[in-house]
Amino acid sequence: MDGALDPGQSNIFATLRANMVEQQIRRRGISDERVLQAMEAVPRHEFVPEKWKARAYEDEPLPIGDEQTISQPYIVALMVAALHLKGAERVLEIGTGCGYQAAVLSCLVNQVFTIEMRTGLASGAGNRLREHGYSNVNVYAGDGTLGLPAHAPFDAIIVAAAAPEIPSPLVEQLNEGGLLVVPVGSELQQELVVGVKKNGRLQIERAGNCRFVPLRGVHGWKKVEAG
Ligand code: SAH
Repeated sequence: MDGALDPGQSNIFATLRANMVEQQIRRRGISDERVLQAMEAVPRHEFVPEKWKARAYEDEPLPIGDEQTISQPYIVALMVAALHLKGAERVLEIGTGCGYQAAVLSCLVNQVFTIEMRTGLASGAGNRLREHGYSNVNVYAGDGTLGLPAHAPFDAIIVAAAAPEIPSPLVEQLNEGGLLVVPVGSELQQELVVGVKKNGRLQIERAGNCRFVPLRGVHGWKKVEAG
């Protein structure tokens, strides 16, 4: 196969990945075994640009092009674990990026719908996910702050970019009892907000500070023009 790794190299990545799960994720308190297994299964190095491959399992976000980043492994695990997924869910992700988090979700639920506003990233992620056999992921190009009304409602929603406030269409498109996780705050610093929908309204808890690239679109940050 073109571009395939030799078995030795692939073993090295598997070892780095197992260490990542132990040191960065389990040790920091994530105990959901299904999430730990998914993080151990998904080849993160296949989702980052070639020049960052060797650093794919480090404890940090990495550039994926278009000024965007793939989140730090721990943050992916923290956000995904906050959704308490059991296996039968239909999940919506906003901000596909390189498709890594969608691949992790793919191992944990029945169906993943993911929206990316940058068309180059969306098509790259779609190809990558297909190539690696993540066949229950559907990638859409568009403004994720509007959700995906044609496929709603969702059992869980995960926003992978920093929002000024929780986009209301996402709350509308969440099932009763469903969970939503989203970083909310300023463009420089946010808090991870976990909400559960009860009687049509979102009940909110905060799960610590984080830093994401800005969410754009109708219910996101408007780009400030220079000058
Ligand atoms: N989950 C991704 C990382 C996402 S980075 C991964 O695993 O790689 C955040 C992504 O959100 C960026 O790719 C950015 O283009 C996208 N984004 C920002 N605003 C958006 C919007 N309104 N709709 C869809 N995607 C958006």
